[in-house]
Amino acid sequence: MRKEILILGAGYGGLLSALSARQHLSTEEAGITIINRVGSHQIITELHRLAAGNVAEKAVALPLEKLFKGKSINVVVGEVQTVDVAGKKVALNDGSSYRYDSLVLALGSETNYFGIPGLQENSLTLKSVNDANRVFNHVKDRIKTFAASKNKADATIVIGGGGLTGVELVGELADELPGICRQYGVDFADVSISLVEAMPTILPIFSPELIGRAVSSLEARGVEFLTGLAITEVNGNVVTLKDGRTIETNTLVWTGGVQGSSLVGSSGVEVNRGRATVNEFLQSTSHPEVFLAGDCAVVFGPEGRPYPPTAQLAWQMGELVGGNIAASYKNSKMDSFNPVFSGTLASLGRKDGIGSIGETGIELKGTPASLMKKASNARYLAHIDGLFSLAY
Ligand code: NAD
Repeated sequence: MRKEILILGAGYGGLLSALSARQHLSTEEAGITIINRVGSHQIITELHRLAAGNVAEKAVALPLEKLFKGKSINVVVGEVQTVDVAGKKVALNDGSSYRYDSLVLALGSETNYFGIPGLQENSLTLKSVNDANRVFNHVKDRIKTFAASKNKADATIVIGGGGLTGVELVGELADELPGICRQYGVDFADVSISLVEAMPTILPIFSPELIGRAVSSLEARGVEFLTGLAITEVNGNVVTLKDGRTIETNTLVWTGGVQGSSLVGSSGVEVNRGRATVNEFLQSTSHPEVFLAGDCAVVFGPEGRPYPPTAQLAWQMGELVGGNIAASYKNSKMDSFNPVFSGTLASLGRKDGIGSIGETGIELKGTPASLMKKASNARYLAHIDGLFSLAY
């Protein structure tokens, strides 16, 4: 009997699940429906570039209808309201509902505000194409306003969080702001760009040498680092730091952390700190007909530590999930998840970057790292393009 596969989310995990399921199953064997909040697959690893106006939206938002054309994958653009794994039913906020034989939860992550008073209400985020457009338009507006107001808060930009998202964003802004200032007749020297990080250092996943390289490269372009200083409160446009100092800013972008999807948390699948727990085949530990791909799941490595939620992991999870769903229908053996880590690359603006490559962690800095980051994006696009031409 024909099975129904329902995939929630068309990020890296969801997209690759759909493609790999279709590679393994004919349209007679399974119907595939993918539900996503927006009609595009968003390349979120490149959002920092869109947020600084350094890339066109069409390069980071690929239309799903076009991607899935001719692949017999039903695309539904809508907002999931509830997931009920006990009743095997998913409801959207337009009143429609969907049943399934297999469900893939690939809903990504949400911004974590850690309960910091006033933070959510008074900050921008960088989790989607809409967010990135909002950041760009907001920054441009503030600089334009500053030209007339000369209000220092309009020319003060604060990024909260010195993880990869915050650092990549600040690098891009540091490169693009001089041009934006020129456009509105503002002296770039009047603009202040600060990155606030609670821990003693930014990007602790890199070696001290690479961290030093990132800091000096960004400082040379006007970024001020306030490390070891958590944001403790935001009141309107006043940001308070742990040592009691305050910064008046009309642009606060919060990149201080992520958490699992709240829909997954309330769906009824077993979770660990809000992220779904999985077995080696990426099935929910409580509901075997539910598969997980991407940031909304937690996968533990051999030392018992959870892997960080990254695009490369989501992509690999999605590919495995499609094949394992097919195996579950054909009573064949499912594959275990054995992720391959190609390393971590951080761009530091248009021409600079740092990276730690491969299992051995070969270190790169400057142009090679920057080019490698661009190549890694191109590789992903080529990979999904290849899969589209291979799909059933
Ligand atoms: P993150 O959790 O990695 O970093 C958030 C940072 O904010 C941390 O350094 C944390 O100490 C800091 N922070 C938390 N509370 C704070 C506070 N009150 N005040 C100041 N700072 C505070 O989040 P992210 O950077 O969004 O990354 C999320 C995931 O996505 C990670 O797994 C990351 O590896 C991945 N990612 C990868 C890339 C890439 O590969 N280039 C790019 C972006 C994100």
